[in-house]
Amino acid sequence: MYYLSRTGNLTPSMLKQYLYCPVIPWIITNYNVSEPVTDSMKISSSTQTAENKGQIKVRNKKLELTSIIDEIKQSGKQTIIIEKKTYPTKHLTRYKQQTIATALAATTKYRIRYAILEVAGKKYEIELTETEISQTKLFLEKLRKTITSEKPPPANPEPQKCRNCWYKRYCPYT
Ligand code: SF4
Repeated sequence: MYYLSRTGNLTPSMLKQYLYCPVIPWIITNYNVSEPVTDSMKISSSTQTAENKGQIKVRNKKLELTSIIDEIKQSGKQTIIIEKKTYPTKHLTRYKQQTIATALAATTKYRIRYAILEVAGKKYEIELTETEISQTKLFLEKLRKTITSEKPPPANPEPQKCRNCWYKRYCPYT
């Protein structure tokens, strides 16, 4: 997993976690713990590696955002960012925001108008409109406020999520 970068920058993975439950990135940064890599994560990661032409690290200094791109594709002068997920999900929004955050981190290096999110073989084309960009920047701001706070963010624990949450042993709400 790629949460906070060594430079302390935010990462799209952390934004994804924030949108699942804001308490998770708070626990990760305040207790300096992160979920061990599971078998399904290993499968996902090996699938990505096999298909990749090489992962690329990108950094947006202004946003203090660092990311690793799964794959890129050229379309004329435009670069398309591709984010791949092996398994389907009920929470597509967080993957979408992760993809846009990756694209934002990459705009310092490439011209990007589109990103592609691929979930279990299904492709979603995401246009980087002003609205999408503003929304993601807002989430990144909220994420930064959350992880730099000494107090855990307000939460409304959902039993279904908490039951399978690895972070529940550190969670102030469970
Ligand atoms: S146990 Fe529930 S509230 Fe706590 S971090 Fe996990 S999902 Fe969030």
